[in-house]
Amino acid sequence: MMFWSCQESPKKTIPIKPTPKKQPSTVLKTPTTPLPEGLVDVQQINAAIQIDLKYTTTDNFLRERLYTRLQKAYLQKDVAIRLSEVQKELSRKYPGYQLLIYDAVRPVSVQEKMWKALDSLPVKERIKFVSNPKNLSLHNMGAAIDLTILNANGEALDMGAGFDDIRKIAYPCLEDSFLKVGQLTPLQVQNRKILRSTMLMQGFRQLPTEWWHFNACSREEAKRKYKVLYLEP
Ligand SMILES: [Zn+2]
Repeated sequence: MMFWSCQESPKKTIPIKPTPKKQPSTVLKTPTTPLPEGLVDVQQINAAIQIDLKYTTTDNFLRERLYTRLQKAYLQKDVAIRLSEVQKELSRKYPGYQLLIYDAVRPVSVQEKMWKALDSLPVKERIKFVSNPKNLSLHNMGAAIDLTILNANGEALDMGAGFDDIRKIAYPCLEDSFLKVGQLTPLQVQNRKILRSTMLMQGFRQLPTEWWHFNACSREEAKRKYKVLYLEP
């Protein structure tokens, strides 16, 4: 039954509501305000980790530049240290492989913008893709990461679905079903497993609906340990 629900809308595209306010076109290289305490630049912790912040570009599901000041991947320090351990393990097992971060800390204002842009979807569907800003996302605390892996040639591994792909083929929980009918290849599933298993070894938790998203801990634990960060995007 689960699988038939995957099959319903494999090519579904979502109408995205354009956001009314235009982003300033100037890209500032450094934040104008100091970073909140606790946050670190991931690349300062481990320079082997690469970044391609999709929301600093128009190459994202909103096709709009959402970050202007935020140009680096910032995380809580303990989360960044765990991610560094993931990179070390990856390098040990697969020489030349590097983590590639698509998104790390995300300002609450951007979370709200994403939520509103998808308001054509019923809430039940929308929360599979974007956390309700009322409940916040662990991204808003610097405790979630969107990422993939680059091979030794610097190419992103084929995961069978792109970043921010809303189709069910991106759901880790349905991989076996898509593999069975040949819509995902064994190599694509294997690539996802490399990412997942190295992240899980450091206690990260994968979202069942996004192969690229990992939380550092439970929502309850994050709320106890970290502050919500109201950054300038
Ligand atoms: Zn995410």
